[in-house]
Amino acid sequence: MPSASGPQAAIQLDAVRKQFGETRALDDISLTAAPGSLVVLLGPSGCGKSTLLRVLAGLEPASGGHVRLNGRDVTGLPPGARGLSMVFQSYALFPHLTVAENILFGLRARRVERAERAARLERAAGMLGLAKLLDRRPAQLSGGQQQRVALARAVVAEAPICLMDEPLSNLDAKLRAEMRREIRALQQRLGLTMVYVTHDQVEAMSMADQVVLMREGRIEQDATPAALYAEPASTFAAGFIGTPPMALLRLEAGPGGAVIAGAPEHPVAAPAAAGALLGLRPEQVAPTEGEGLPARITGVEFLGAETVLACAVGTGGETLQARVPGHHALAAGSPIRLRLPPPVHLFDPATGRRLPRPA
Ligand code: ATP
Repeated sequence: MPSASGPQAAIQLDAVRKQFGETRALDDISLTAAPGSLVVLLGPSGCGKSTLLRVLAGLEPASGGHVRLNGRDVTGLPPGARGLSMVFQSYALFPHLTVAENILFGLRARRVERAERAARLERAAGMLGLAKLLDRRPAQLSGGQQQRVALARAVVAEAPICLMDEPLSNLDAKLRAEMRREIRALQQRLGLTMVYVTHDQVEAMSMADQVVLMREGRIEQDATPAALYAEPASTFAAGFIGTPPMALLRLEAGPGGAVIAGAPEHPVAAPAAAGALLGLRPEQVAPTEGEGLPARITGVEFLGAETVLACAVGTGGETLQARVPGHHALAAGSPIRLRLPPPVHLFDPATGRRLPRPA
């Protein structure tokens, strides 16, 4: 959990920096991970996720700061001395070796005894459903099976900390969902501390105990998935999580309170909220037959169990989305009235930071 610290933390980063020439890839990164937790590094392309993982692994030296694993300062140590296992996007399987040889490669290199190797292979292969595939070569496996071999190689290392860099990005959507559950179950069963890099918010929200959302080399928010969703710390976090993401609407002063820009008839917040950005999640907005904010439907997306209605509000170009159960028959262009909740998410438009709720 984010509050883990001191000797209990399996991973502790203090003010870690990484400079590539002019580029500051990591800027003052401090975080802790509790033993047995799954921490996801989430963020858009280029935000520094992979660099942070590589600094943790010892594949890149940090330009500043400290990396501690299970209480030991490993900042200057090479990867092999850090007690880690790693799974990469590419799987990095050797094409000329069998599945069994691939799984055991690292143990051979570390001169683990033959009987011990065999026992670990049997355990890992059983756990990951690879027992019947041990004599095949990687080219004779599906993408999901190759992924499992890469996982098995991390499992046999029996290292308490496992690092994964976008391990599912080569798989199709269905297999990805399956592997997500498998990795999470395995991580929990083995009590591993795992750091998992992805740019996929669904992966992050569904797997993590702790999500570290990154932006331009810095931590934007470090929180549980529930807290990240319920209380995004900034407009960036609000826009990154949720499908569709939270709408952000400009509020201005109106006759009866703060109103959405261009819709003066309908106060949506206390007068003090004028000038802020109002965040609305699509499930907080509902069509209503009675009194409500007048809007116009601009798009209808039927998703099976629900329909997402894109709506335009007022004359100021403000838009939001409503998620309604089932199939909604209204067509684009139709007028609609919307019921909004009391304001929960307000942001400062200048800094993007979350504001306290108005009294
Ligand atoms: P992606 O999801 O696209 O892999 P990322 O969040 O993992 O992105 P990084 O690969 O960590 O991002 O890159 C962070 C920044 O550091 C980027 O601006 C990138 O161009 C830069 N960078 C990464 N590796 C190097 C390197 N070896 N030399 C120079 N710049 C680098």
